[in-house]
Amino acid sequence: MSVKGKTAVITGSNSGIGLGIATELAKAGANVVLNSFTDRDEDHALAAELSRAHGTDVRYIQADMSKASDCRALIEKAGVCDILVNNAGIQHVAAIDEFPMDKWDAIIAINMNSAFHTTAAALPMMRKAGWGRVINIASAHGLRASPFKSAYVTAKHGVVGMTKVVALETAQEPITCNAICPGYVLTPLVEAQIPDTAKKYGISEEEAIEKVILLKQPSKEFVTVEQLAGMALFLCSDAGAQTTGTALPMDGGWTTQ
Ligand code: NAD
Repeated sequence: MSVKGKTAVITGSNSGIGLGIATELAKAGANVVLNSFTDRDEDHALAAELSRAHGTDVRYIQADMSKASDCRALIEKAGVCDILVNNAGIQHVAAIDEFPMDKWDAIIAINMNSAFHTTAAALPMMRKAGWGRVINIASAHGLRASPFKSAYVTAKHGVVGMTKVVALETAQEPITCNAICPGYVLTPLVEAQIPDTAKKYGISEEEAIEKVILLKQPSKEFVTVEQLAGMALFLCSDAGAQTTGTALPMDGGWTTQ
């Protein structure tokens, strides 16, 4: 079984990891639904460009993953969902007693609740098609904690828990559900933190990467979007058919410590 001709819905996929996975899936012949909360010309242009480059059907569907109704509408509008990649996510860093309530609610909604709603809407489609893959982009923070990231760590641990439940509920069907748990990945989100971190500690950008950002990542190398996409493709392959309910670390050794 290959992903050729399958339809993949990837939440939060107009940049970073989501766009990288979307690109690799399109390259492998899958039809793709890109998503974010914006509805700009450039979002639709991105879909057209991916479609042109890889000769598959690529659509952009606007839906705000902080809203339950939008999450379910995304899957309904997609019409088909063989591969669901729950990737949309945001971050906010603050001590728990100073953590803004609206940020807590947004992180729990986008990073965790959205995966519940999209999965609930997509499973009947997968059952009808007789095949399905749910891939949750969790984090090393779904397995380990760091201070000042209460909402993020809570949401990502929740996603890892939900992954196990979905895997058990679909265990006797040709459907799998897994979480990928990346360490630091060099996406625009992380790139933006490098100059600020260097400035804050009065060190070079190279030192900021090695000593601060990759402090917990023993390899001292970023995980790449292509590596994550490779894991997603493995999970969609026949070789991945008995891999279900797992939380797969891709973190340069972070969670082995
Ligand atoms: P990113 O900011 O590049 O991508 C986040 C995506 O989510 C964007 O496409 C954004 O538009 C979308 N998004 C944000 N709010 C949304 C909303 N309300 N509705 C729909 N889409 C929304 O960041 P990224 O690094 O590519 O992160 C992608 C996922 O990977 C996140 O879940 C993140 O927690 C996880 N992750 C990232 C890293 C890392 O180091 N970059 C590490 C581990 C896990």
